[in-house]
Amino acid sequence: MTNREIKRVWTVQHHQHSPIHAAGMVLDPANMKEFDPFLFLAEDFFKKGTFDFHPHRGIETVTYVIEGKLGHFDNKAGKGELVPGDVQWMTAGKGVIHIEDPAEGDTVHSLQLWVNLPREHKMTEPRYQNLRSQDMPIREEEGALIRIFSGSSGGIKSNTKNYVPVTFVEINLEPHATVTQDLPGEYRGFMYVLEGSGLFGKNNVEAKRGQALLLGNGEGVSIQAIEPLKVLLYAGKPLNEPIVARGPFVMNTEEEIRQAYRDYMDGKFAE
Ligand code: MN
Repeated sequence: MTNREIKRVWTVQHHQHSPIHAAGMVLDPANMKEFDPFLFLAEDFFKKGTFDFHPHRGIETVTYVIEGKLGHFDNKAGKGELVPGDVQWMTAGKGVIHIEDPAEGDTVHSLQLWVNLPREHKMTEPRYQNLRSQDMPIREEEGALIRIFSGSSGGIKSNTKNYVPVTFVEINLEPHATVTQDLPGEYRGFMYVLEGSGLFGKNNVEAKRGQALLLGNGEGVSIQAIEPLKVLLYAGKPLNEPIVARGPFVMNTEEEIRQAYRDYMDGKFAE
């Protein structure tokens, strides 16, 4: 298995958007093409009332809760609550209207990834997969615990359903432990360090909490902990399709975006 190089490392910058909301872009939407099939990844610190009900079409959102309790209410699946370590994989498809809100008095710290849907699945039926931390398959190696939210690691597979093939794992390493995450050669991917520090990839790039790393080409990537390390790795098969993104809608053409706004105004998302 070839070991991928780390092409780029950057530190996520957070900004206060309102008294109850601070956020930073782990993946900047200005570089959508570079991260295909991912559109962006936002890190948020927020209290109840930050987000109002809003629609989505043409994407999936993958929310990982780092701290706090996050409630979710929508017009299709009802409501649910995520606690630290849990993930909600929401396929918006042809349209959902939802709200993501912390419990009263709570500050939620979370990551939300937008995964683009391929043209043939943009108008699919909406779907929710609540991926509880304690229910996920685990790969254990010497000093390493890998929780598999999507795809596989070392031959251990998750049952999470994908429209775009995506590997999403949470890697926990004790100091000095090393592990290699296998990836199909065609996948593009990146990592985000949640805790500690380590050495990454063929070029042994050092990174610490709050830093993101872009993966080069290859079949796997090595990760070695310096301090106790928690890192998320996301990788997926690029779509190589035109992207037209406006607010909460991501389609292939301008006309499809206009149709999304018309359908939303006509109440078709609430059907
Ligand atoms: Mn949303």
